Amino acid sequence: MEKLQFKTSVGYAREMDDADSLAQFRESFIFPQYKGKDVVYLCGNSLGLQPKGAATYISEELEDWGKYGVEGHFESRRPWFAYHTFFTKSLAAMVGATEKEVVAMNTLTVNLHLQMLSFYRPTKQRYKIIMEAGAFPSDMYAMETQAQLHGFDPEDAIIEIAPRKGQHSIDMEDIEAAIQKHKNKLALVVFGGVNYYTGQYFDIQRITQLAHEAGAIAGFDLAHAVGNKVLHLHDWKVDFACWCSYKYLNAGPGACGGIFIHERHVKSKDTFRLAGWWGHDEKTRFKMKKGFKPMKSAESWQMSNAQVMNMAALRASLDLFDQAGLDRLAEKSFMLTAYAEFLLQQIKHLKFQIITPSNPLERGCQLSLLFQSKGKEVFEQLQKNGVVADWREPNVIRIAPVPMYNSFEDVYRMFEIMQKVK
Ligand SMILES: *Cc1c(COP(=O)(O)O)cnc(C)c1O
Repeated sequence: MEKLQFKTSVGYAREMDDADSLAQFRESFIFPQYKGKDVVYLCGNSLGLQPKGAATYISEELEDWGKYGVEGHFESRRPWFAYHTFFTKSLAAMVGATEKEVVAMNTLTVNLHLQMLSFYRPTKQRYKIIMEAGAFPSDMYAMETQAQLHGFDPEDAIIEIAPRKGQHSIDMEDIEAAIQKHKNKLALVVFGGVNYYTGQYFDIQRITQLAHEAGAIAGFDLAHAVGNKVLHLHDWKVDFACWCSYKYLNAGPGACGGIFIHERHVKSKDTFRLAGWWGHDEKTRFKMKKGFKPMKSAESWQMSNAQVMNMAALRASLDLFDQAGLDRLAEKSFMLTAYAEFLLQQIKHLKFQIITPSNPLERGCQLSLLFQSKGKEVFEQLQKNGVVADWREPNVIRIAPVPMYNSFEDVYRMFEIMQKVK
């Protein structure tokens, strides 16, 4: 790879912004204000900004509810009985799936549990779960209680792969070795797409392949990968995945999440899912008869009818992703995060280390800075100067320059403030 020729000046950052064909998307978001100005928002990995279109979509549903009452299920401009289908195409493109493999529903941890009920069917011989050490707590609790649900001791059933001593990223070799070692007892390999703390992006395709070679299922929590990395879940043969939509997907607090189930499981008669009426074949759904007959798509995992109000904001956000295109966003992201990394490397007077992999193929947009000292002071200075970043105990600042709405100048502003910390 050619060495990128970045420069440490605001003029250079503005030149980059002028040349950015996605720069106008910034106008489609509402930025919180601080001292009368837009904040520098570097926290899209925690809660994405509000798309201006969200209010329109939500108020249209309120309007139609008022206008049609119950008839809105069929008469409203986006009929509620089919509301979940208005997300399928965009979500399929987002994660590299066919339209049979995805659906917007529920929230992340709920979906993870539902998918575990389908794909973690342990036996006395095969019951172990391999996961990353330092996973998001919800994932740890989900694995722990799923093991217990099936009568296993989590201490025995769950194997966590940690970074080697002195390192912050998990070595692919160690994942491979663990899968090899436990292959006769392995039921499931479950990883984040991008680790929330370090920002490490895992090789989803390779992990899936290794899991399959060991006779196990491969599932992924894509909370920090969806809308951040270009994914090809179908081609990679991933068994299942789930995500939330309030981080990079900008669909607002508590937004409706989504799931991916590979076509081969959707089609298989052996696949178990807990059922509700919205997963039932839509042709006979309203006959209200006994005997669950699943839809021939990931929709068969839906239990309930669509959460229209909640999902309206997601539609507004996906409009923007459809327009921008994930490939272009990923290209900009590559430059934007590399620029942030370059600027941070110019800061010599503060003692910190970037613990996110420096290889762009092994990270998304986030950079995690581990401070040896003064982390809290730096974080407070950023806050006092209108930069929204994220603090993780004991001493990590996470920043996420998001290609959809962040600029090169945003990244420069952050750098400028850090330079001034005494
Ligand atoms: C944000 C996040 C969650 C949050 O789960 P919810 O059920 O949406 O509250 C779970 N897992 C990971 C990896 C996350 O990053």
